[in-house]
Amino acid sequence: MWQKKNLKKLTPLEVTCSSSDCDNNLHCFTQNIKKLTPDDDGKCKYCGAELIDPNRIRRRDLSDIQYTFDSLKHELWRHHYWHIDIDIRAVNHAHRKGKKGMREAAEHRLEKYIGTANPLYDGRQTPKTGNIIYYAQHATACCCRKCIEFWHGIPMGQALTKDQLKYFTDLVMLYIDERMPTLPEDGEYVPNLQ
Ligand SMILES: [Zn+2]
Ligand SMILES: [Zn+2]
Repeated sequence: MWQKKNLKKLTPLEVTCSSSDCDNNLHCFTQNIKKLTPDDDGKCKYCGAELIDPNRIRRRDLSDIQYTFDSLKHELWRHHYWHIDIDIRAVNHAHRKGKKGMREAAEHRLEKYIGTANPLYDGRQTPKTGNIIYYAQHATACCCRKCIEFWHGIPMGQALTKDQLKYFTDLVMLYIDERMPTLPEDGEYVPNLQ
């Protein structure tokens, strides 16, 4: 039957949030924090590699952000989002908004989808494409409250404070700076895709 798109076409790397590729030094650290023994906290759940110091990351200290970002990149799922191409719709959307507009959009999105005590569909509320904020959220582990609990040390079941939301907004913007370094401050005209 006629199809508009080849739906069977697979992406080169089918990554999920619990994937690992330990042989290539890309692991999976994200785990249910309540079931973790202090001894296993920060170890890859598949191979046991100890590459991150979770307590250092959970201080949420922007002056130590390079350590946090380097640690996130040791996890396959995050690494994927630090490196895949940003899709064209997301690139155009970011240019239409500019950095200022993206900061506002990130604030709104984070508050609405991860900021409440019990977000709806937690773990599935962050799409994969269409907006660079989604890429940033997966890359910096503020995609859902499970990832936030493990990586950033904020327990599930409580609303995020203004300071915590600001921290995640800063992470999203630092990601955008790294991935789109030439994005202008103000939005600009970008024609619609044909
Ligand atoms: Zn591993
Ligand atoms: Zn998540």
